[in-house]
Amino acid sequence: MKVLLTGGSGFVAQHCLRLLLKHGHDVVTTVRSAEKGQQLLSANPGLPTTKLSYVIVKDIAEPNAFDKAIISSPPFAAVLHTASPFHYAATDFENDMLKPAVNGTLNILNAIKAHAPEIKKVVVTSSFAAIINMQSPPEVYDESMWNPISWEQAQTNGAMAYVGSKKFAEKAARDFMAVEKPGFALATVNPVLVFGPIMEGSLTSLNAVNTSNVVFRDMIQGRMKDGITNGSFSWVDVRDVAAMHVAALEKSEADGQRFIAAAGRYSNSEIASIIKKHFPSLQDKLPEHIELESSKAGYGIDNSSAEKILGVKFRDLAHAVVDTVDSLLKVEA
Ligand code: NDP
Repeated sequence: MKVLLTGGSGFVAQHCLRLLLKHGHDVVTTVRSAEKGQQLLSANPGLPTTKLSYVIVKDIAEPNAFDKAIISSPPFAAVLHTASPFHYAATDFENDMLKPAVNGTLNILNAIKAHAPEIKKVVVTSSFAAIINMQSPPEVYDESMWNPISWEQAQTNGAMAYVGSKKFAEKAARDFMAVEKPGFALATVNPVLVFGPIMEGSLTSLNAVNTSNVVFRDMIQGRMKDGITNGSFSWVDVRDVAAMHVAALEKSEADGQRFIAAAGRYSNSEIASIIKKHFPSLQDKLPEHIELESSKAGYGIDNSSAEKILGVKFRDLAHAVVDTVDSLLKVEA
């Protein structure tokens, strides 16, 4: 089928793009510049423009941002919306984070409703941030739950702004479906922190590494040589996240559903230990002795629908760490 993929230059999106092509789909992707579009074409060489092409959408938050992309080369069968700002450095919380996420999501849904009645499926990359409850976590999280964060609380710091942006963007999408009753079905993928290899050729400097892989960059550059920063959360491999997006597009059983993407827990010290074990050349970038911090949380996450409905089997942490570090070392070289 022909798929419109928004934010094709992103870390998660590049894996989705690769997998969509592998599954035989045609892809038109939105990027913010011709340079980023050309980079994607070079990373997936030898394809005719009917198989892979790009449309420039400079800012997803602008009114009618996606209209041109949707009208560009009909008929599309499905849309995969990944584009959204992901960093913790916003200072103008509403304009840099909350509004782009929410308006970007509404813009793509409105564009489809107005211009592409043939589209039957939309998958939106939401986040576990839309589910987590930092004040009173349940014993086990599942897909029925929502982060209670308010618009005001989302404006207290950069991290809260990102978390809020994902909750309010998904909420806007779900409300759109309930009110507008469009002719397409919606599914969301809600990943925890996504680790995994970056696509070859996608980075010219490790300074630009995507937010969720920063910890790997810091470790291999010796920034934690004097001690591994405490840190522990839930993680998932980007290749499994991509597989969930593509399965959610392809399977009608996914219609209307939310899918938590979570492989397990990690701590920074576990990551460092795995790097030490597998990369002798990086020994001097890490502390001589690594004190293992527990990665246990006071709550569980039910990730069973990803396996049951989407057929995804999650990779383990060592596999993800080794492949991520390998990919970053190639950029450094
Ligand atoms: P990236 O920063 O690598 O990708 C984000 C993409 O969105 C980029 O293509 C970026 O373009 C684009 N984008 C951001 N803001 C705008 C804007 N205003 N106008 C146009 N394009 C924009 O992040 P990830 O790949 O990690 O994230 C992809 C999606 O996955 C996001 O929705 C994120 O919230 C979600 N997610 C990610 C997780 C993770 O741990 N990585 C966890 C849970 C959810 P450009 O690069 O040109 O700025």
